[in-house]
Amino acid sequence: MIEDKNPQRTPLSELGEFALIEHLTKNFDVKHESTVKSIGDDAAVINPENKNIVVTTDLLVEGVHFDLSYAPLKHLGYKAVVVNLSDVYAMNAKATQITVSIAVSNRFPLEALEELYAGIETASKIYNIDVVGGDTTSSNSGLMISVTAIGEVEKGQEVYRSGAKPNDLLVLSGDLGGAYMGLQVLEREKEVFKVDPNNQPDLDAYTYIMERQLKPEARKDIIDLLKDLDVKPTSMIDVSDGLSSEILHLCKASKVGCDLYEDKIPLDPQVISTCEEFDIDSTTIALNGGEDYELLMTISQEDYPKIKANPNLTVIGYITEESAGAHLVTRGETKIQLQAQGWKTFKE
Ligand code: ADP
Ligand code: MG
Repeated sequence: MIEDKNPQRTPLSELGEFALIEHLTKNFDVKHESTVKSIGDDAAVINPENKNIVVTTDLLVEGVHFDLSYAPLKHLGYKAVVVNLSDVYAMNAKATQITVSIAVSNRFPLEALEELYAGIETASKIYNIDVVGGDTTSSNSGLMISVTAIGEVEKGQEVYRSGAKPNDLLVLSGDLGGAYMGLQVLEREKEVFKVDPNNQPDLDAYTYIMERQLKPEARKDIIDLLKDLDVKPTSMIDVSDGLSSEILHLCKASKVGCDLYEDKIPLDPQVISTCEEFDIDSTTIALNGGEDYELLMTISQEDYPKIKANPNLTVIGYITEESAGAHLVTRGETKIQLQAQGWKTFKE
């Protein structure tokens, strides 16, 4: 559908590994003082001064995590960076460097990798990070891309999953369900396209949710906001697998329970209307959909006045004793036990 709009196809074999790396990484400038040595040696050198360093990695595999028939390579490059940065922000840290490793089959021409790297470059500009290294190798089947992100945090300011206490407020950034419903629309259009390649879909009603799927953003702004508001969450996690399983991760790590209120879960109007169109319950989507990359945190009641007026943060519930369990309180005020039904790679 979108793949291969670029008419030029330069085989990777024309360049060789070193020329390829040089070509792909030539635009990466160094923005951070802590980046002492970037691409070009056997390893990068980073000096975090007196900070704590956070490190996280994600691996994306074609056919498992992305489908190039509707995910443009530029967006894929962007997303591969963003999903890692989201994990750094979930530690209350500032993302500073990444490395990018790719395995690529000869099905891809140079121009495809240029697209991928254009997305990586855009993300590194927007999120202000240095690309300091990586690895390039061949693959027999499809594309794999692995990003490692490095961040720094003042000692003692890091936030784990494990700090939530009974009576803390459960707080969420942004809204949920968009990425999952965007994927439903894309999958549907892919089927329509298979039947009739001349059918040009009208996707105007789905712009927000398709962007949530194809070009997600990590909530760097929330980390900056929390700092400005002088709020240190007691625990935090990024919502990559759906709200339900992330809440259960926080509860398990913190040894607490929680009450989540159905009527407080923030949903975009496009999510609500698309759920109606697909005849799916929007709460189910918010609980079990994935890839929204919002931040879920707990904050102490004392900090409530500081966040109360902020449109980016919604109180969706509160923390209870572990023995009370983790529940959804429905609009009809019945309590349902939360279940982990996140998007699991190995499911089915
Ligand atoms: P080595 O053989 O020591 O692994 P490479 O030739 O693979 O070295 O890499 C040379 C330099 O280019 C290193 O700084 C490495 O981190 C960087 N590099 C290699 N592949 C990539 C890539 N896909 N993206 C960014 N940097 C890369
Ligand atoms: Mg190497």
